[in-house]
Amino acid sequence: MSERVLKIVMQVVRLILGCTFILSGFVKAVDPRGFSYKVEEYLQAANMDFPDWMNLPLVAAIVICCAEFVLGIYLLLGLRRKFTAVATLIVCVVFTIISVLLVIFHPVHDCGCFGEFISLTDAQTLIKNIVLLGLAILLVRNPQVAKPLVPEGWQWIVSLYTCVFIFVFCLRSVYYLPLIDFRQYKVGADLREMVFPTHDDIKPEEISDFMVLDTLSEDQTAQILFKKEPTILIIAPLLNEASTGVTEKLATINDWCRDNGYDIFCLTASPLKDIRKWCYYNDAEYPFLIADHTLLKTMVRSNPGVMLLRDGVIRNKWSANNLPEVEDASVDEKELEATAGNNGKILLKILLWYLLPMLLIIMLSNLIKKRKPKLPKLLKVSNDADDTNDSYDSNNSKNSITTKNTKTMRQKIVAGNWKMNMTLQEGVALAKELNEILSADKPNCGVVICTPFIHLASIAPMLDTSVLKLGAENCADKEKGAYTGEVSAAMVKSTGAEYVILGHSERRAYYGETPEILKEKVNLALANGLKVIFCIGEVLEEREAGKQNEVVAAQLKGSLYDLTAEQFANVVLAYEPVWAIGTGKTATADQAEEMHAFIRAEIAKQFGQEVAENTTIQYGGSCKPSNAKELFAKPDVDGGLIGGASLKAADFKGIIDAWKD
Ligand code: PEP
Repeated sequence: MSERVLKIVMQVVRLILGCTFILSGFVKAVDPRGFSYKVEEYLQAANMDFPDWMNLPLVAAIVICCAEFVLGIYLLLGLRRKFTAVATLIVCVVFTIISVLLVIFHPVHDCGCFGEFISLTDAQTLIKNIVLLGLAILLVRNPQVAKPLVPEGWQWIVSLYTCVFIFVFCLRSVYYLPLIDFRQYKVGADLREMVFPTHDDIKPEEISDFMVLDTLSEDQTAQILFKKEPTILIIAPLLNEASTGVTEKLATINDWCRDNGYDIFCLTASPLKDIRKWCYYNDAEYPFLIADHTLLKTMVRSNPGVMLLRDGVIRNKWSANNLPEVEDASVDEKELEATAGNNGKILLKILLWYLLPMLLIIMLSNLIKKRKPKLPKLLKVSNDADDTNDSYDSNNSKNSITTKNTKTMRQKIVAGNWKMNMTLQEGVALAKELNEILSADKPNCGVVICTPFIHLASIAPMLDTSVLKLGAENCADKEKGAYTGEVSAAMVKSTGAEYVILGHSERRAYYGETPEILKEKVNLALANGLKVIFCIGEVLEEREAGKQNEVVAAQLKGSLYDLTAEQFANVVLAYEPVWAIGTGKTATADQAEEMHAFIRAEIAKQFGQEVAENTTIQYGGSCKPSNAKELFAKPDVDGGLIGGASLKAADFKGIIDAWKD
């Protein structure tokens, strides 16, 4: 599959997964209490007991719907792509296992994947989850393909705002009633028509199982639904679980009904002894009717809740936390009836509360990222952390360059590139010698030796990595498999190496490594936890034609610009004018500085100023102890990639010491 096609496919995969998770999280968040009943069914089916006070089903319901919504947003915006891909896969695996169990054992009726919004059969749920699982596997295999819509530094705002939004929305739905009623008993529903249909074309799902009995088990359904007077129904599925904090308010409603010609009943599924207890302790004077427990829980998501019926039509509903205010006897009866369409407006408002700030964040963050950077004019090398007031977060504060007008810093690194030199024994001896020298006389910069593959496993255990780190000179552009002679990034990492040089001009020139191949290598190296020393640089003809900037910019773009800022933080750049490598011809310090400043500006354009300021840019090309100091004194030169001079401990140490005063 070509890269373009893969990109499109992965965008579609993200879109489908993201929208599915957002939808399923949001519709559950509309009615978390309803979803908690489903969770309770699952827990009971699994024979899991939990103490009543924990309200585990409700807590689990809130956690699940928040997690689904947040995951959906992460998928859609391409945030924390690897983590998101793995999390999605785990969720899809769990969901698929559950749906297989549903098909085999039918432990619950209706999976509840989309709350009460869409009802799926067990088979449909299984098919849906298998499809999602397939997409999640695709995503895990290509997590980095799509670009994040929000730059790295801004993603935490998006995450925080999304979590707070969905959590508050859930709590609101629990405290009041669901903003949108997906059930039969929504405001405006004609119960009379649903129970006693007068026309034949009523659909089965519209037929209601609403039925109420008096305490003598006489059916009172018709009497309630055909009453002339408006009727208030207090709905308390189980009285011993009902909130007793509202009993005074219920008494006031009872008085108001009596004074205003309303009928009032309390519908419950509780046994008679609980009804008596309730009346005795709460001075409840309203009459009681008996109805099915599930029916009552479906009618109002509150215990107790209140419902207003007129002409058999549900005119309004209230939760225990939001009961009608009828203390004032002159309350207008019309005020009690919900205005049609009101809920839609509230929902729109709530969505805008999320969407508008989100759009603003996305636009603002991308605008700031794209803004042409202004490079700080004055940079100075600081070998002493106390020189400045800057705060340091590096392990070795001395290995940093600070800018005068920003608080950024970056590591100085001198890296050796041994190339195809030295036998195993010679290499081990040189590494040992360097390790001893640097342990005795600590460097003022990071030091890395990049060796042939065959040296890595032998050298790695010998090094004191606080003074000397290890890297490879190359790695494969394939993950693993039948690629005779190749060494993968994972294999390099497994030796204990931490770095890998990629994009060296010799590999570009002699082994045909194109920007696309290098992009693969970079991605694999980073995915396997290696830091990349990425080489860029022009050949002599290009410099003579004045094309050096163009060439270097294209090399950066061709292999690195699909990375996130987070990934790019693990890339060290090495500017190596090809005409200076191994030729004894060094770029002048000013030539190097000019190019390094240009590279930093390019990085700032792509990843932002802060990332650019933190990027280590080494110079490479006939760097020796005699010219290192002058080169490293330049504000944008953060160390060197050293070829020939890294093969002798004394020369290499001389270059490392250029960072000392
Ligand atoms: C190199 O190959 O990366 C290099 C800079 O070589 P030299 O120092 O020998 O020019």
